[in-house]
Amino acid sequence: MERAEERNSRVLLKPIQYLKGVGPQRAELLARLGITTIKDVLFYFPRDYLDLTDYREICDLQEGKIQSVEGVIIGIDLKSLPGGRTVLSVGLQGKKGFLRGIWFNQPYLRDQFQVGQRVVFAGKPRRTTLIWEMFHPMVQRLGEEEQPPRGLLPVYSLTQGLEQWELRRIVRAALEVGLSAVEEAFPDDYRREHGLVSIHEALPQIHFPPDQTALERARRRFVYQELFVLQLAMAIRRAQQQTFRKAPEFHVTVELDKRIRRLFPFDFTPGQNQAIAEICADLAKPVPMLRLLHGDVGSGKTVVAAYAMLVAVAHGYQTALMTPTEVLARQHMKTFERLLAHSRVRRVLLTGTLSPRERSAVLAQIAAGEADLVIGTQALIQDDVQFRKLGLVIIDEQHKFGVRQRAALKASGADPHYLVMSATPIPRTLTLTLFGDLDVSTIRDAPPGRRRVYTFLAEEKNRAEWWEFFRQKLREGRQGYVVTPVIEESDELDLVSLEQAYESLANGELEAFRLGLMHGRLPPEQKQAVMDAFRSGEIQVIVCTSVIEVGIDVPNATLMAIENPERFGLAQLHQLRGRISRGQHPGFCCLFLGADLTEQARKRLEAFARTTDGFQLAEIDFQLRGPGEIFGTRQHGLPPLLVADLVRDSAVLEEARADAQRLVQADPGLASPQWALLRRQVVARYGKVLDLAEVA
Ligand code: ADP
Ligand code: MG
Repeated sequence: MERAEERNSRVLLKPIQYLKGVGPQRAELLARLGITTIKDVLFYFPRDYLDLTDYREICDLQEGKIQSVEGVIIGIDLKSLPGGRTVLSVGLQGKKGFLRGIWFNQPYLRDQFQVGQRVVFAGKPRRTTLIWEMFHPMVQRLGEEEQPPRGLLPVYSLTQGLEQWELRRIVRAALEVGLSAVEEAFPDDYRREHGLVSIHEALPQIHFPPDQTALERARRRFVYQELFVLQLAMAIRRAQQQTFRKAPEFHVTVELDKRIRRLFPFDFTPGQNQAIAEICADLAKPVPMLRLLHGDVGSGKTVVAAYAMLVAVAHGYQTALMTPTEVLARQHMKTFERLLAHSRVRRVLLTGTLSPRERSAVLAQIAAGEADLVIGTQALIQDDVQFRKLGLVIIDEQHKFGVRQRAALKASGADPHYLVMSATPIPRTLTLTLFGDLDVSTIRDAPPGRRRVYTFLAEEKNRAEWWEFFRQKLREGRQGYVVTPVIEESDELDLVSLEQAYESLANGELEAFRLGLMHGRLPPEQKQAVMDAFRSGEIQVIVCTSVIEVGIDVPNATLMAIENPERFGLAQLHQLRGRISRGQHPGFCCLFLGADLTEQARKRLEAFARTTDGFQLAEIDFQLRGPGEIFGTRQHGLPPLLVADLVRDSAVLEEARADAQRLVQADPGLASPQWALLRRQVVARYGKVLDLAEVA
């Protein structure tokens, strides 16, 4: 007798080609969607639903809500308007009344309609003085005798050559043969306690929901499961780091604390002190610290990191600080040079631009334990970098690195403590997702004397006025940045436009001043040269891409003009603006709005001009643009979420996280047989990326 499990997987993993109504040709199309087995189809969820719950005769329609009407096409008319625009209008004769479907600028739809065809239109109707209209209704074509579909009809992402109705039929067939073979991952009482419908109810309903409530219930189950699996992975990773690994204990005596604080020319803010206390508590334990430190731009995170590094060094350990760019590494180096001018702490810089000879000299120092403080870029995580006694790793501007590399550096040392610094505040849902395995320290205040930044939104007509002001401030001795949007630093066209902007400023508005040009593709020595010249005042204005975003600190720079600000995320704009609030003079930031600004973009930018609270801006950006925009697609290295939407499902996320933590605490290896299936899902999805040791 075949075991049930084997039988099930035989059914689910059967090639899709052998499903009724598929065959080799459709199988090829489905493969383009990533569907090769019955199971793949079952879990290929709709991207949207066609709402066919409210059928009406045309004469009974109401304005303002989604309704469906059935009828026969009696006329098709495609008109061209001036400016290349088109209007397609399709007349629909129902049993009681006439309605016109209207599409703008989609002339190719013309060929999908035929006079005499039976169809359903679904959408929000509008009553003109004479007739009913629907703009861009959803269309469902009906066969001769076919009954109009009811309920919520799934709308799938397709590939050319495959139609909605075909895929719907395939999904139905797959449900018929495959549903009973799908195993429930949650124990029954767990489902009941957490309000989760069973997989055998949820799967058919996410594809063909009878109504909105059923859809919500089915969706909740899958969202919960997806987030629960993620949070289990995070909790397990954390448990493993702290069970199997030992880190050195660093105790901070009053004496040591005093000695470190004396190095800084200021008192720490309450927020900094709080973060330092949290970090010190971690460092005193024999397990690795796993902590995220975030706070607004300029809130003094680097200072907190420096404190922690000095604690490690005082205990005779090495410490490494890794940054995403060379400019930033050098800047940190300068900070430490200043701080440690009179100390015996030995520091080295390790970046990709060292000559082979320099490089091997530095590597030898690191390996011999002759370097206490190592600052560098990704060059730090290469195989040949061997620390003798690594006690603490700090990763600056973490989200540029990604989860994978976090693991890589750690493995190269013994078992260091580990602190991640984010350049900007991270919205809570993202902290829980991307950094779910870390504790969090937040700095909410700013060092005293931080200057205000005044932000202006300027239209084309305000340009001259702004440049006059800009020149005025330059004459008073201030410095500034002009930022042009470059989405891809690798894009030649964008660089050309940057150079043009530079030329036109150098020969126009800023003719009388000393300008420098800066972008991500300059060789590092040149970047450094520009930065040095700017710092010394030799250059008054830097014309640049958003490369200056990462941590440049020149207090005398108080002016900033940003072209096409709508092309940046709020977090990024905020980061940019943070560059000009560092000194004793107030900052002035001017956003030149593009001519074709969308309503949503204007809203974002107005919010930006209104507040300088980075936490608030991060949340607004997240609400308006979603997580992808903030962190760049997949930069973080985790597989994408397929069902959950972090903006919409934040409550479920909190719930799943608390549940996962409780479960892992009780059963760290998910060893109980009732969790076998979930454990397998955790390993399959996150085992590699999160570097989870084999779960028992
Ligand atoms: P972040 O890394 O959070 O952007 P930094 O640590 O670079 O911020 O600090 C920004 C600036 O504020 C630096 O010039 C730093 O010397 C200064 N600073 C940091 N903490 C304090 C403090 N407590 N009092 C005064 N100045 C501070
Ligand atoms: Mg910083």
